[in-house]
Amino acid sequence: MNWESLQNEAILHLQNLIRINTTNPPGNEIEAVRYLSEILKKEGVSFQIFEPSPGRGNLVARLKGNGQKSPLLLTSHLDVVPADASFWKYHPFSGDLQEGCVWGRGAVDMKQMTAMELTILLAIKREGVACSRDIIFAAVADEEAGCRWGSQWLVANKPELFNAEYALNEVGGFSLYVDGADDQVFYPIGVAERGVCWLKLTAEGKPGHGSIPHEDQANVKMAEAVSQLGRCSFPLHENEVVSQFIRAMAAAQKFPRKQILKLLLRSPFNRWVLNYLIPPKNRAQFRALLSNTASPTILRAGTKINVIPSKAELEVDGRILAGQTVASFLNELTEMVGVELNKEILCEHEPNVISEYDNDFYQLLTQTVKKHDNKALPVPYMCPGFTDAAYFSTLGIKCYGFAPVRLDRGLSFSDLFHGHNERIPVKGFLFGLKVLMDVVGEWCQSCFH
Ligand SMILES: [Zn+2]
Repeated sequence: MNWESLQNEAILHLQNLIRINTTNPPGNEIEAVRYLSEILKKEGVSFQIFEPSPGRGNLVARLKGNGQKSPLLLTSHLDVVPADASFWKYHPFSGDLQEGCVWGRGAVDMKQMTAMELTILLAIKREGVACSRDIIFAAVADEEAGCRWGSQWLVANKPELFNAEYALNEVGGFSLYVDGADDQVFYPIGVAERGVCWLKLTAEGKPGHGSIPHEDQANVKMAEAVSQLGRCSFPLHENEVVSQFIRAMAAAQKFPRKQILKLLLRSPFNRWVLNYLIPPKNRAQFRALLSNTASPTILRAGTKINVIPSKAELEVDGRILAGQTVASFLNELTEMVGVELNKEILCEHEPNVISEYDNDFYQLLTQTVKKHDNKALPVPYMCPGFTDAAYFSTLGIKCYGFAPVRLDRGLSFSDLFHGHNERIPVKGFLFGLKVLMDVVGEWCQSCFH
């Protein structure tokens, strides 16, 4: 194996994938699937393509092992969120290598992972020796719009292709620099995700003429509900993954930050600590880790300036903490909103991704990161949103958010993720490639390890 040429190959795949515009909507992931399929065909790796809706391409490949152990799934999504080129230093679909970084939409979310996984698959294939387990490579559509034409469809229609024990996926494995903890680099590893409850709330009232305001107005009721949601006063809940994450952060801090973080976990002060002692720039992040949340995102009401409407609608992006349920979320929401509103659930799934973090596989992830970064402190992490893991985990696959990358101090993963000027430092990308290669090599006992 020539490490130098593999590195170059991985960078080129990343650039080429970024250059294929898979903005969702419409997605058009089939173009990226064609790119991958041509490479796999040339190298003799067998694969299948699924296009459940025109343009929405998914590719699933399998490198056969000797069958001694259960398969490993390497997955990524091919779609990206929209990018407005006028805010970017280099064009979002240029894939340019400038200033030591590859630039473009998907550079960290998550074409870097597709490129790494592809390169590793090819490297193992070229050895010509069977691993101890099959490696499944999945590149899927539609994650950014809720997974309907990607992992959700594949899990419902082709579950037999995903007989894996463990999966590696996004949101985790990145370096996280924490103020006040200069000697350590945190590496959150995704072991849990929040669930979803997207809702439509409707307020009803009496219609009337705008010149004679009365006291039963739909808009006013809805405004009260929105204002209550804006207070973000969902109860805080204890959650083992989050507690461990916060305790690890606290341990790396000095007085008084150390004590403040610890108090976040201790009722009955936690809400007060969150609201008054945590700096505003970090508050929303902590809140999303410690409670259910509900963002009022779409408001619809009224059609004419002099008519009091009898109906107002609000769409709410509700997220459910690991360990909570749709029912407990709805109870909390009802109590918080206060006014009587109709509720219609538009989309829901319980928080179902909670993978163990005391097993050999998780150990391997943490040890490999530490081997390559002696300041690394891997910590279990709960993703505040959801990913394809929400669907793959329904098949019993233990999914980990582990797309390794070491960013430079000053570059934050959460700013790059869906942000303007999304980019990945080449050095950090190659660090990730090496980490991932070691993990896969060790776990699958490939001879390149
Ligand atoms: Zn993503």
